[in-house]
Amino acid sequence: MRFDILTIFPQLLNSPLQEGIIRRAVAAGKISVNIHDIREFALDKHAMTDDRPFGGGEGMVMKPEPIAGALRSIENKNPGGRVIFLSPQGRRYTQETAERLAAQDHLVLLCGRYEGVDERIRLNYVDEEISIGDYILTGGELAAMVLIDSVTRLLPGVLGCQGSAENETFSRGLLKNQQYTRPRKFEGHEVPEILLSGDHAAIAEWRLVNAVLQTLEKRPELLTRAVFSEEELCILEKNRLLEAVRKYKNIEQ
Ligand code: SAM
Repeated sequence: MRFDILTIFPQLLNSPLQEGIIRRAVAAGKISVNIHDIREFALDKHAMTDDRPFGGGEGMVMKPEPIAGALRSIENKNPGGRVIFLSPQGRRYTQETAERLAAQDHLVLLCGRYEGVDERIRLNYVDEEISIGDYILTGGELAAMVLIDSVTRLLPGVLGCQGSAENETFSRGLLKNQQYTRPRKFEGHEVPEILLSGDHAAIAEWRLVNAVLQTLEKRPELLTRAVFSEEELCILEKNRLLEAVRKYKNIEQ
């Protein structure tokens, strides 16, 4: 998968690409991340990428010509990329969006700065506007990295343990069950006995029940999207959780 990022602060994006799973994905050729300095496409001798807003007011606005130039240059060399503008006004980013974008093979990520980007860029070049949450960042670079990180780990072969993305929080309308590792006792808390039993069926049942309990406590609204097999519904009933889940999700029996 190819990512192209347009920014006026290219240095900001280097370090997240040089650690952990993302570094390995780049090294293995699962993704390529190409950073483009919008300043290189500025038209004047001072390499200006921003200007005062028409109509007055505070701050500066990113000029359209350098961004258009950078986008056209990417399109000429590698056509067909989906252009995403990271913006607080965009559709809120979710795991579902990450899954949808992971099916693409080329994403072009436009990072704004200052008061934002001249509207005509959005009108003429942007396929999709994405916000990573209801708060204002100083620029789109961190948002672009959030998107790259979350999409990359969904690509086949990127996570070491196959299938580990499938059972994660959000992937099926449930939070993930609580996790434990050594030591067995830590500061007054013990690992639940069942996890030490070696009984795989009992452990799977505990994990489901625990995931449902976590979700009911912390993010019950997610349950509206949960899908349970017949066997899982029986487990929920046995553990007296079915009624609680039914408050959020229509389950017919
Ligand atoms: N003046 C703009 C407004 O009120 O909507 C905010 C501009 S913000 C300071 C500068 C840039 O940061 C934006 O153009 C966008 O690229 C990025 N940005 C800020 N918050 C974001 C968010 N929640 N999600 C994605 N990008 C964001």
